[in-house]
Amino acid sequence: MRIRSRRDLKDNMLRTHYSREITPDDDGKNVVIAGWVHEIRDLGGIAFLVLRDRDGFVQVTLSKGKVDEKLFNLVRSIARESVVLVSGVVKREDKAPNGYEIIPSELQVLNKAESPLPLDVTGKVSADLDTRLDSRFMDLRRQRTQAIFRIRHHVLRAIRTFLENSGFVEINTPKIVATATEGGTALFPITYFEQEAFLSQSPQLYKQIMMAAGLDRVYEIGPIFRAEEHDTTKHLNEVSSVDIEASFVTHEDVMSILELLVKSTYSHVTERCKHELDVLGVRLKIPKVPFKRLSYDEAIDIGGIEWGDDLDTAAEKLVGEKISEHYFIVDWPTEIKPYYIETYEDRPEICKAFDLMHPRMEIASGAQRVHSHELLLRRIEAQGLNPEGFEFYLRAFKYGMPPHAGWGLGLERLLMTMLDLNNIREAILFPRDRRRLSP
Ligand code: ATP
Ligand code: MG
Repeated sequence: MRIRSRRDLKDNMLRTHYSREITPDDDGKNVVIAGWVHEIRDLGGIAFLVLRDRDGFVQVTLSKGKVDEKLFNLVRSIARESVVLVSGVVKREDKAPNGYEIIPSELQVLNKAESPLPLDVTGKVSADLDTRLDSRFMDLRRQRTQAIFRIRHHVLRAIRTFLENSGFVEINTPKIVATATEGGTALFPITYFEQEAFLSQSPQLYKQIMMAAGLDRVYEIGPIFRAEEHDTTKHLNEVSSVDIEASFVTHEDVMSILELLVKSTYSHVTERCKHELDVLGVRLKIPKVPFKRLSYDEAIDIGGIEWGDDLDTAAEKLVGEKISEHYFIVDWPTEIKPYYIETYEDRPEICKAFDLMHPRMEIASGAQRVHSHELLLRRIEAQGLNPEGFEFYLRAFKYGMPPHAGWGLGLERLLMTMLDLNNIREAILFPRDRRRLSP
């Protein structure tokens, strides 16, 4: 049969139903389901196989004498986490988890699992994060872990929908680059034929070039690479960054976009991920906009640090405890922010940069950008950087660059703070950190 539609696609597959597609009202219907052997309970005269698929659990019930004896014996011997295909009839059963069970007529072991298993998938036996990450494929079979990544999927969907509806065009910029975005910051060098090259630490320069290109509003969701050596619970060496840049707007405007995006993401997840939030035991509080704006001066006052210092973890914590909801820190000292940030006309020592903070940590940074070629060149030189390396970027400012602003939001930090995860590694499938390059 040729596949002509999505419906045909499904009809051609090994199974007829996902667990969520079966209800007690299907009593008497023939179905084929597929998944993993979550558990086998052998009570002598009756055996239960709990099959797990992506969406949930199905009880397959075998009563001695009522099903084929070979089948009965086979089921009792299957190793947990083996992959099976079960054909059978749906039977309404109030005592079964979903109000129905499957009485099998045929069961195929598609692939046997070895034992012992590297992890307990049922979650009854806990495992430390390293063990879980070493066997991430198995860890992802656990409800909790899977809930996180389904929510991550919905967060991405919410972000894309929000930006799409706000007139943003999705772009992809190179991850192999010749120049550092900001200079100084640790980069991963790579071998690129005869030349020196790096993994990109930010799409900053390219998204700004897109403003000169006239795309007006762009966004990118992609990896950024930071060769930071520290080993903390909120830093990764490969991060998923949500970046936007918009023309003819101010930093205030992109702050509004950012807070609305955060709010709508929380709303979307609240609506669409009820089950996943339940599994995680998380109740989301949808943040109210506008978020509080705290000046850098106020923040360092509460954080107890000197003017000119960046907020460290301890200072972030002190301010977070005081504010206890999302807030912005604005009006940063020019000297601690990158060269491409616009300063206030009357106060050049202060710049139009902002950080979006969750009470636990920074989750985004953004600013109004310098759009004058002359000023940008001066600022690059003032930071001791070589303008030659920035030629491809600077050129875009010579022939009609509109004023523009933008931000970069760390996706894992957004997820980590939203779901109250202890470690950022929980929010990414295969974390890259100082000690971890595999899997
Ligand atoms: P921090 O000071 O918290 O290390 P940063 O100011 O160096 O972060 P930016 O360069 O401003 O980070 O990057 C924008 C956003 O990208 C950050 O607010 C954060 O959400 C995310 N991000 C940056 N670096 C990392 C990292 N190493 N691990 C996880 N997220 C990161
Ligand atoms: Mg920052």
